Amino acid sequence: MGKAWSSEAWRLIVAVVIGCIAGQLLGAIAWTLLFTISFYLGIQLYHLRAMVLWLSAGGRGEPPDARGLWGEVFHQLYRVQQRHLKRQRKLGQVVNRFQEATSAMPDATVVLGAHNEIQWFNEAARGLLGLHPAKDRGQRIDNLVRHPGFAALLNGGDPSSGSLLMPADSNDGTTLSVRVIPYGNEQRLLIARDVSHQLRLEQMRRDFVANVSHELRTPLTVVSGCAETMMDADDPCIREWGRPLRLVQQQANRMQQIVEDLLLLSRLETDRSAPPRDPVVVPAMLAAIREDAELLSGERNHQIRLECDPALRIYGVEKQLHSAFSNLVSNAVRYTPANGSITMRWYLDVRGAHFEVTDTGPGIAEEHIPRLTERFYRVDVGRSRESGGTGLGLAIVKHVLTRYGTPLRIQSQVGKGSTFACDFGKEWIVSHDSSMTAREAS
Ligand code: ADP
Repeated sequence: MGKAWSSEAWRLIVAVVIGCIAGQLLGAIAWTLLFTISFYLGIQLYHLRAMVLWLSAGGRGEPPDARGLWGEVFHQLYRVQQRHLKRQRKLGQVVNRFQEATSAMPDATVVLGAHNEIQWFNEAARGLLGLHPAKDRGQRIDNLVRHPGFAALLNGGDPSSGSLLMPADSNDGTTLSVRVIPYGNEQRLLIARDVSHQLRLEQMRRDFVANVSHELRTPLTVVSGCAETMMDADDPCIREWGRPLRLVQQQANRMQQIVEDLLLLSRLETDRSAPPRDPVVVPAMLAAIREDAELLSGERNHQIRLECDPALRIYGVEKQLHSAFSNLVSNAVRYTPANGSITMRWYLDVRGAHFEVTDTGPGIAEEHIPRLTERFYRVDVGRSRESGGTGLGLAIVKHVLTRYGTPLRIQSQVGKGSTFACDFGKEWIVSHDSSMTAREAS
């Protein structure tokens, strides 16, 4: 480049010198200089015009023919242009590969703009969501996909709020799991996956567990009943078999309890609807649970306290709430050593109603806490069985609370005790007015 500049400068100097000499000879230096510089400028303008024409044609093809500085300028521009084209080709290939990959994806993928308008979608979105490439680009997706939960999912805001299950456009029993993920500049990616097979498998598993549990119910009742009758019989021959018979009855009872818990769990899993809005008199229920806990504690002499807001009621299914609360209280009694204390609290605060069971038991190490609500997960299997546990209690609590849209809160410290808490949002609380109305109506 430096060489081109110096030769251009030399060219200009030589032109000016020749212009001066010619001017000297002709006796009109000013005119010859003007002519020389105009001629030089004309050449520059000619090249500039060639460059503008070449660039306005997109810089495609060979650059205009030129030597010296202009040749160098064209050469550099040509190189930049080639690099740019190469990068564009590469980017094009990447985009093509991305589009091929997303087209091959079985999940429907839709790119949405800030106002939920469709910017792009893949092949699967045509079949699963019924979108048409020709007419649906640029349309708002909530005008095309009509489902009560869909608009709520789009306007939900929180990206981690999970997914929505809804039927596919094909109406052939296909169920989609739809998620919306924000990215980039106010853009969102909508992904819809066909989960029909997964749901069918889950249903099969649930049916299998429910059927097996149901089938086991009668034989277990018979075994337990026979063992009990034999133990009651006043026959010296049978009395010799007292211990094995007691064991048979104990184990049959334990299995009956497991079967009952499994059936309750499968009922809770099958019924995904929100609990009906029947007012539940929780204070009376807790008083009864406390009495049961005293009985369960027996000679272990636990101090069982109940701190309760007597006017606080919530909507729900009494049986299910009873199941959840009594499971938490019976766990506290079973795992807290003799003379320990257990406190049940039922109270209201700005966030809603809360039930808490605090015990002075052995506590639970942190690594176990996230897994406690899994079926048959026990920290200490021997202790759980010894105390008559089925390993399903907290799974039941979790499923009951899922219907209220709330998780089971567990706080525990090894050696100090544990607190299990259920939080019910304000929408579940029976207001004073409505309980008055209910009382007046009755
Ligand atoms: P289980 O019938 O074995 O008690 P749960 O599902 O009710 O089954 O509880 C799961 C496990 O959680 C128990 O096996 C026990 O290890 C632990 N656990 C539950 N409640 C308590 C508690 N109050 N104190 C200490 N450990 C507890």
